[in-house]
Amino acid sequence: YRLNMEDLERGEELGRGNYGTVTKVLHTPTGVTMALKEIRLELDNAKLNAIIMELDILHRTASSPHIVDFYGAFFVETCVYYCMEYMDGGSLDRLVNVSFGETVPALHPAPDEQQELVWEGIPEDVLARIAGSMVKGLKFLKDELGVIHRDVKPTNVLINNRGQIKLCDFGVSGQLEKSIAKTNIGCQTYMAPERITGEHQNTVGTYTVSSDVWSLGLSIIEIAIGQYPYPPEAYSNILAQLKTIIQDDAPTLPTDRYSPDACDWVASCLVKAPNGRATYAELLQHGFLQRDEAKAHSEGGDQVDMAGWVTRAFKFRDAKVVHMQAQAATAPVHPG
Ligand code: ADP
Repeated sequence: YRLNMEDLERGEELGRGNYGTVTKVLHTPTGVTMALKEIRLELDNAKLNAIIMELDILHRTASSPHIVDFYGAFFVETCVYYCMEYMDGGSLDRLVNVSFGETVPALHPAPDEQQELVWEGIPEDVLARIAGSMVKGLKFLKDELGVIHRDVKPTNVLINNRGQIKLCDFGVSGQLEKSIAKTNIGCQTYMAPERITGEHQNTVGTYTVSSDVWSLGLSIIEIAIGQYPYPPEAYSNILAQLKTIIQDDAPTLPTDRYSPDACDWVASCLVKAPNGRATYAELLQHGFLQRDEAKAHSEGGDQVDMAGWVTRAFKFRDAKVVHMQAQAATAPVHPG
């Protein structure tokens, strides 16, 4: 069964990446809501066909609860279209880009409800669930598909209202990677030091799975603190930023808000020498994730309320959007 454009009814735009847009669509024959990613590429049909075939590998493999479902890919003219599971919470960067203790007026609070919402940050049990889901997703890609993600960052971690955390945008298609790699240099990099310096590469010029482990550690800190972990001076200038990543000590989780276990787990991802970094198996066996695993299987009241946390986070985000729009509308216009 082939997906095609005629069967898709376009909805709202969900986001815009470096090389394309993501739109909410309805697949009319089945009634399934999907996310359609459009990637603009100037390629010939042979290359486009190769990409579609590589992406279709995803159909033949077992699925993982930590990887967004794939529904199919096709191309129209020189654009590749990729249909995946729609995640109603969007990516984690949008959910957590606020600072600890920030407050906004609540939207339509009842008189007996809080008039102001306070952002409590990410509790450790929620952070552990996010980290555990990411590791399991990455391990699945590597063990089942033989794929290194290559682009681990908070925008590629999606969330839904059931509190599920899933990875998207992984490098299943070598041809697609090659075609988009040239343009993909953002203003915040999650690249491991060895990818910047070009050291430790094997003969085919690819990097090892431990580069993803670095990006994972950096993403977890960003998710925890609500901002890119390197100081702002470092991201106004991409070269300064790359230099900082290579020369400075790796960032750490704030020790006043997270347990030594959590901090140690992140530190084991952010070892500058790639062969010193923890493996996925080690990361899963670490106390930080073992505690999460125990909670996931506990019968009592000791479970992590991911859905509840997502609901509170959505509520805060929506209130903040309205608050910022209101502020922008009333901001004084400075003369001159
Ligand atoms: P990038 O190229 O920067 O990785 P993408 O083009 O993959 O970004 O995605 C842009 C935005 O679209 C994401 O930040 C996310 O908010 C949204 N998005 C991507 N995939 C989905 C999905 N499956 N469901 C819902 N929203 C999505």
